[in-house]
Amino acid sequence: MSSNLQRMKEILAEVTDLQRAALLLEWDQETYMPPGGVKGKSEQQSTLHRLAHERFTSDEVGRLLDSLESDVAGLPFDSYEASLVRVARRDYEQQVKIPSQLVSEIAGAGATAHPFWVRARIDDNFGLFAPYLEKNVELNRRLAGSFAPDLQVKYGMQVVTKLGFDLERGRQDISPHPFESSFGPGDTRITTRVDPDFFNMCFFGLVHESGHAMYQQGISEELDRTPLWDGATPGVHESQSRMWENLVARGRPFWKHFFPSLRSTFPDQLRNTDEEEFYRAVNKSHPSLIRVEADEVTYNLHILLRFELENEMLEGKLKVKDLPEAWRARFRSYLGIDVPDDRDGALQDIHWSSVSFGIFPGYTLGNLIGAQLMERARTDIPNLDGQIETGDFAPLLGWLRKNLHQHGRKFTPNELLERATGKPLTAEPWITYVRQKFGALYGLETAPRRR
Ligand code: ZN
Repeated sequence: MSSNLQRMKEILAEVTDLQRAALLLEWDQETYMPPGGVKGKSEQQSTLHRLAHERFTSDEVGRLLDSLESDVAGLPFDSYEASLVRVARRDYEQQVKIPSQLVSEIAGAGATAHPFWVRARIDDNFGLFAPYLEKNVELNRRLAGSFAPDLQVKYGMQVVTKLGFDLERGRQDISPHPFESSFGPGDTRITTRVDPDFFNMCFFGLVHESGHAMYQQGISEELDRTPLWDGATPGVHESQSRMWENLVARGRPFWKHFFPSLRSTFPDQLRNTDEEEFYRAVNKSHPSLIRVEADEVTYNLHILLRFELENEMLEGKLKVKDLPEAWRARFRSYLGIDVPDDRDGALQDIHWSSVSFGIFPGYTLGNLIGAQLMERARTDIPNLDGQIETGDFAPLLGWLRKNLHQHGRKFTPNELLERATGKPLTAEPWITYVRQKFGALYGLETAPRRR
């Protein structure tokens, strides 16, 4: 037997011993333990389960599994060694996603709740058990709902490098507010933020910022160190980030390609979700308070509201002191919901604090420009969706490089659009896109309108 296998078996034996000791405590609790023993038993269960979990999910076990997998590669599938390594790997991958602290809390909570459930049944009194059930539901939600932050970043980075973000000339880091900065053709950086309970934030944030970064990375090097080396305008820049984020990464062909690998990265979290459900979940459209989290359909209403209000302030028609109330009234009228406080109302964006006015329309212009470019790219690249389905993003990125990225600031948005699509900016491609996509998603239109 190899020394690696020997070592692995020693660790697995220790883990089994700890688990069996915990099982014996459980047996004790269900048979002879006096009621006064609950607190101590709960602490002992926490400790044993935590130790077993820490032992099993250690870096050493990870390393041993890596080397054992190649050791047993040639052995028959049903051999003892190959089976041991295979099953231990499966358990390891599952356990390593759960923090030891949570394992410990769950073990303790189980031991604490059990006698109250017994008592509640005897007395037929649900109220006795309810607070413990509440706690257990919360713990289980943390167990099932949570996407490990490092895995989210790792998976997201695999995806954006596949889209075309070149890490030889870029990097990614974590920050509270995601952004992109470029220090020249060889160094474009992005940041992202991660929420363990909300997958969309990190993933679509990474795709969004990578859209900005790929634009910068595509500017012709001969424009470097001149005022021409940059994105054309904030609106054109936003067309690139929002196009990759929404028109590509929130599309069906994209998830046809990526969903299987996403599900094998998060098997427990996505156990009961299929590709279609996932596609629908990331395209849920509903009025909401926060602009940066708004869906594609309602997003532009958030912009319209800000643009109107800032114009009215600049023209002196709206006094600053009346802004919060004006915000509430307009929000109710455009999005149909009441704004509960100013934090999620007139105070939610950073822009006005840094004397940045007239910036917001860039986001809507970005949506429109992105849709117009995409419409033309579909004409120029036969079977674009088919390519995306197979994970081939090079033709789309190549098209954007040629028609947009390389030019830097040489042209105005309309000059760029005329050259790339044959016409100046028009809202029609975006309207058609949203009608078709969300019409189909929500069963609002069976067929796209044609004139
Ligand atoms: Zn952006």
